[in-house]
Amino acid sequence: KIVSRFAPSPTGYLHIGGARTALFSWLLARATGGEFRLRIEDTDRERSTQEATDAIIDSMKWLGLEHDGEIVFQSTRKDRHNEVIDQLIANGHAYYCLCSKEDVDAMREKAMKEGRKPKYDGTCREKGLTEGVVRLKTPQEGATGFTDMVKGPINVENVEMDDMILRRSDGTPTYNLAVVVDDHDMGVNHVMRGDDHVNNTPRQILIYRAMGWDVPQFGHVPMILGPDKKKLSKRHGALSVMEYEKMGYLPEAVTNYLARLGWSHGDQELFTMDEMVELFSPDHLGNSPSVFDLTKFEWVNGQYMQKADPERLAEMLCDFLAREVGEEEAASVSKADFAKVAPLLQPRAKSIVDMLEQSRPFIVDASFLPYDEKAVKKFLTEETKPLLEEIAERIEALDEFTEKSLEDVHRQFLEDKDIKFKIIAQPIRVAIMGKTQSPGLFETMIVLGKEQTLARMKRAIE
Ligand code: GLU
Repeated sequence: KIVSRFAPSPTGYLHIGGARTALFSWLLARATGGEFRLRIEDTDRERSTQEATDAIIDSMKWLGLEHDGEIVFQSTRKDRHNEVIDQLIANGHAYYCLCSKEDVDAMREKAMKEGRKPKYDGTCREKGLTEGVVRLKTPQEGATGFTDMVKGPINVENVEMDDMILRRSDGTPTYNLAVVVDDHDMGVNHVMRGDDHVNNTPRQILIYRAMGWDVPQFGHVPMILGPDKKKLSKRHGALSVMEYEKMGYLPEAVTNYLARLGWSHGDQELFTMDEMVELFSPDHLGNSPSVFDLTKFEWVNGQYMQKADPERLAEMLCDFLAREVGEEEAASVSKADFAKVAPLLQPRAKSIVDMLEQSRPFIVDASFLPYDEKAVKKFLTEETKPLLEEIAERIEALDEFTEKSLEDVHRQFLEDKDIKFKIIAQPIRVAIMGKTQSPGLFETMIVLGKEQTLARMKRAIE
């Protein structure tokens, strides 16, 4: 059974690169009926914050990347890490070293001068010291290789590798040691992570071997770049997953788009989470950096906005309104109101925030509808007002208030007056929506309802 994991360091928000790594790791587990574990690598007490931990957990929840089992906090496992280090010393795979930083620098310099790879020279290997830092005894011959799930075979000559430090002089275990012990203890057999870690992997494999543990499969995912092919950064747009949430994008659009950055299945663009779970295989992970293209992401989001269940969108709109104006004020708009407007706006809204903005003229009472001054001046004139008044009268007289009856009543009106629709279209639109852009007039009227439509027309001609 595949056990994969995501192991972020809580030193900041979860950025979209990290989210994509988490997604691939999650997909690998879900696609194979395996387990997906979450470990918070909070050993750097100075840089790790509770806030960042919460942000990571919230982001994963929002994206739907639920994890199995308890979250493991690396900082709680120091004793276990030290226990393993002591075992490595006992079995002869690690040793104490008392060389100072200056000593090591001198060794490195010397090696460099002699045209060798700069590294610690193993001075303390056979000294049998009982204090100092603890180093791993790296084999001096052979090579350490693995077949990366993304990058293919990778092989490093052991002489290229330092006798890395496992425990610092202050007694704290180092990063590479902690990762190996935690992954092993959590039963992780598939490690997906960013390819900034690829150089750590042969070193970590040495630790697995020294402990006689099974070595997991590794997959190193390439970076995400901005459209200028530079490392993705703030100036390319939002980086934090929760910022996308706040901007009102749908989580399934984010996961779909992120998955497609680096993973493909033919030329299909849109995948539900279920489809991705069904189709995912690490064999189709690309090995070159992908470019984050906001326009393309917005297209994907738009597709999901159109497909979304209006009830769900209505709920989100209520939620976003409450965030903006407070629970109490937001309570004056019902979910049902939003649910009526949503289908009309689904093909036109870029995000929930955009949809909320566009739904504003629908959900306010006629007496509060804001009017665009310019539009009023241009379209609600002495010529058009009498026409509007007459149309309003005819609408009021309708028994049935449907798109069909509205169409008929307008057609008849145009015929009687011998005028073109365009003479009255914008004036009506400005009258009922306060501005010159809106969805189709009759569908807009239907969503507003007869009473609001008439109240607005009356207010406009006053
Ligand atoms: N904590 C590391 C990071 O956030 C990841 C380590 C790993 O996945 O092995 O970069």
